Amino acid sequence: MSGAAFILTINVFVAGLLASAFMVIAVYDPKRVAARWFAACYAMGIVYIGTEFSIPMFDNTRPILAANFAAFLATLALMNIGLAKRYEIAPPWRSMLVFLAAATVAVYITQGLERDSLLRMMTFQTPYAIAQAVGAAIVLRSRRQLSQFDYALSGVLLASALQFFSKPYLALAVGGSGSDPHEYLQSTYAMISQALGTVFALSIALMMLVILVRDILVDATEKSETDALSGLLNRGGFQRRAALALREAARQGLPVTLVIADLDHFKSINDNYGHASGDHVIEAFSRFVHESTSAHHIAGRIGGEEFAIILPGAHLGAARLFAEGARSAFSGLPIQGLPSHLRFTASFGVAELIGGEGVDQLMRRADAALYEAKKDGRDRVRVASGSHYETMVESNIVPFGSKPPSA
Ligand code: GH3
Ligand code: MG
Ligand code: MG
Repeated sequence: MSGAAFILTINVFVAGLLASAFMVIAVYDPKRVAARWFAACYAMGIVYIGTEFSIPMFDNTRPILAANFAAFLATLALMNIGLAKRYEIAPPWRSMLVFLAAATVAVYITQGLERDSLLRMMTFQTPYAIAQAVGAAIVLRSRRQLSQFDYALSGVLLASALQFFSKPYLALAVGGSGSDPHEYLQSTYAMISQALGTVFALSIALMMLVILVRDILVDATEKSETDALSGLLNRGGFQRRAALALREAARQGLPVTLVIADLDHFKSINDNYGHASGDHVIEAFSRFVHESTSAHHIAGRIGGEEFAIILPGAHLGAARLFAEGARSAFSGLPIQGLPSHLRFTASFGVAELIGGEGVDQLMRRADAALYEAKKDGRDRVRVASGSHYETMVESNIVPFGSKPPSA
């Protein structure tokens, strides 16, 4: 068995394994449409290898060579559809079909040329190079935020495109691609060419697998950190994101403020109108929080009817204004499904990060300010002035196990 035939035989299994891996992802998470197309791409790769092995069985090799070319170009086209799905670009179906047909006809015609003619070889390899370059363009033109994995993938796709362009010269450099199609698999060129193809096919598949698995992990993390009723972050998600925001603020030397809100007399809403109505109020307040914040704010539902918002870049004054605005807007908001004369209110506690503080300490100080707001009659905003200790002392609460300063 020649080197090229050996590589191709192994590739049947490699392509089968890769197609199965993508299929597992597609079945596990049917939302990953790209995985289905990648599975189809590597399954088509097996068809292509089948055509490669059947070339020696034909006397007239022109049709089988055209089929062999079309099978490999279809493999790359399926890959591009998969990429288009992952990178949210509409696949140009019609131009792809026209390109596939035109390139196959051109290959069929140029098979009449001398075997080592540059034009014949270029007609064969250029469509592959174009297909891979289009793949790289799909990644780079995506509106999705690209990670280093995406840039690496586009780099490999571009390298693969260049590799296809260079193949005719490679063939000439290593003594041609066999004296006739029956001899191709015996040539040194075939061995190098198939080995190169394997490296690229494997690299692209592994990168795409990493990207898809990462997508699944990101989605799963997001889901586990989202509160189902409000659509805001849950307590765990809020604390994780808040800790990141605090660290970032400290790094940049910028202020960061936390606003905590708690719905007033919420228990009586449940008691008087039922739990479902209570849920409506929570949903309405969550919507309100969502609409009052932008992407750089971090908003979460951290308890039953308790909410927290991190305002990066905001000093205490700005955050207090924000809370005042939210308080007065919410207190005038009628809630669907509940008597229109009823008005619901919330109390707010605000605390600005003090150097060296963590999320827990900041939340404790904002909570203490919220407690003040409740104590002073609810439907109001209270600000934590300094440290946790100071807030407690101001409100005449002696922290458990400690004494207030003597003067
Ligand atoms: P305050 O003004 O002091 O905040 O009084 P409150 O009644 O709002 O506070 P309290 O902590 O006494 O009651 C909160 C209630 O919220 C108790 C709990 O049954 C209810 N609750 C917690 N989670 C949910 C939820 O997801 N849906 C509904 N409908 N009620 C909830
Ligand atoms: Mg409450
Ligand atoms: Mg509460």
